[in-house]
Amino acid sequence: TALGTFAGVACLALTVSACGGETTGGSTERGTIGVAMPTRASERWLTDGKSVVEDLEGKGYKTRLVYGDDDPKAQVAQIEKLIAQGVDALIIAAIDNKSLNGALRKAAAADIPVISYDRLILGTKNVDYYVSFDNEQVGRLQARHIIEKLGLEDGKGPFTIELFAGSPDDNNTKFFYDGAMHLLQPYLDNKQLVVPSGETEMDQITTLRWDGPTAEKRMKRVLAESYGNERLDAVLSPYDGISIGVLNAVKADGYGAAGKPLPIVTGQDAELASVKSIIAGEQSQTVFKDLRQLAEMASNMADDILNGETPELNNRRSYKNGVKAVPAYLLQPISVDKKNYESVLAVSDLYTPEDLKQP
Ligand code: BGC
Repeated sequence: TALGTFAGVACLALTVSACGGETTGGSTERGTIGVAMPTRASERWLTDGKSVVEDLEGKGYKTRLVYGDDDPKAQVAQIEKLIAQGVDALIIAAIDNKSLNGALRKAAAADIPVISYDRLILGTKNVDYYVSFDNEQVGRLQARHIIEKLGLEDGKGPFTIELFAGSPDDNNTKFFYDGAMHLLQPYLDNKQLVVPSGETEMDQITTLRWDGPTAEKRMKRVLAESYGNERLDAVLSPYDGISIGVLNAVKADGYGAAGKPLPIVTGQDAELASVKSIIAGEQSQTVFKDLRQLAEMASNMADDILNGETPELNNRRSYKNGVKAVPAYLLQPISVDKKNYESVLAVSDLYTPEDLKQP
């Protein structure tokens, strides 16, 4: 993979960022697979891109990896370019799940199979398979952590909570929200949990492009508007970048100092800053998803499709995308907190002990 090409110019590309928009690698013998990832701004997607490429190249494929940098139009252009370059299959983690219909019509016309990676692509029949995690379970794990930490099952309360959701154009956002609300709703109904902002509907609490600073701003506004004498006890956060934004906002409001403990803050992806924050006793929880397993499933799927075999599937629920039920394989997420982070992360060897050293 050392030698990449970008915009027709050969460059020594060890990383995508070193070479701009696209890295290519591997041998063309078995075919070329286009991999479109959403952003380089979050660690998880760097791991995804790297792992998918490694797996495919290990199977003898050439790869073309592109990152859309959170711009749906740029991603559409990248995918159209991959199609024009004649890739044999596409693995796509969409930025805006509804923006790809035109591009995928072109993929279908060129007989290019499409695997929807992590995020389900909506509103098109031109998506063949879906590989992801049990996304509702992610939300349930976050809610379960809050319920246990606050002792809600023992009847404790009332406690205050604020709710954050992911990007409104990501299909996963609703699954995370629904999974969490399924467990939290009874405690909202019996008033063991109270939401002083009153913002509980999904469209009131979404965070465009999962942006941490956007969440930080909303948290600051809510604290200023709705927390006169009240103290914030818990925050449902769907993603580590949002959790860090929330923590910045509450710390700026004096939380974390003597007599004003930080609220319980959940998260997702076990990103390095958040794992460190958990170790330091700030963020309370995250959800670990083994991205190397996800990458392996996706590359196995692509390999099976190109060999005329049916990929391994395990979805009991069918994943409907508005036009068809997309056959899927779902992996299991794991809740991580201060008690178990060492054992969970050791198995995955995601970080070395050196990585986890503060600050
Ligand atoms: C992924 C999460 C991630 C989020 C923000 C979601 O689609 O499933 O793992 O935290 O996007 O990148």
